[in-house]
Amino acid sequence: MASRESPKTTEPSSTELPFWRRKTLAEMSDAEWESLCDGCGQCCKVKLENASTGEVVDTDVACRLLDLQTCRCVDYPNRQKQVPGCLRLTPQLVKSLYWLPETCGYRRVQAGKDLPEWHHLRCGDREAVHREGISVRGTVFSESDFEDLDQVLADWYGFQGPY
Ligand code: SF4
Ligand code: SF4
Repeated sequence: MASRESPKTTEPSSTELPFWRRKTLAEMSDAEWESLCDGCGQCCKVKLENASTGEVVDTDVACRLLDLQTCRCVDYPNRQKQVPGCLRLTPQLVKSLYWLPETCGYRRVQAGKDLPEWHHLRCGDREAVHREGISVRGTVFSESDFEDLDQVLADWYGFQGPY
């Protein structure tokens, strides 16, 4: 009787998987955690919350600390001192922030998904997020462009009250 070789598997072993495929968010080192951010700047848009429903919507205005070209925070280490409403993401928080974009690395890993091909950890190019139109580059105003942001938000979105 002829012997048969066992079928070869094309699945990489768990040790070959990149860290974001084999670790949970809570298991990641600080450096791994920080590298998951693709730098899209989407979470730095000023958001409006419907007081009745709790629904959160994005505006076309970004936080005053967001550099609109790099889409990076200009004072990341002190961001929460400078902007009290700035959220520091944690594994727990990622589970509840439904408004994080579908593309967000934290959201994807939390959902058990791979990072997109344009993510810098996969393609090695931090400009890809901008070329692919994922980032806010060229799509938002800065909060600091306006003297009276509340009035602007009221005019654009019919929004009344603090944001
Ligand atoms: S939405 Fe996610 S990936 Fe984009 S800047 Fe915010 S934390 Fe980073
Ligand atoms: S303080 Fe920095 S990280 Fe926080 S929302 Fe503003 S730009 Fe984004």
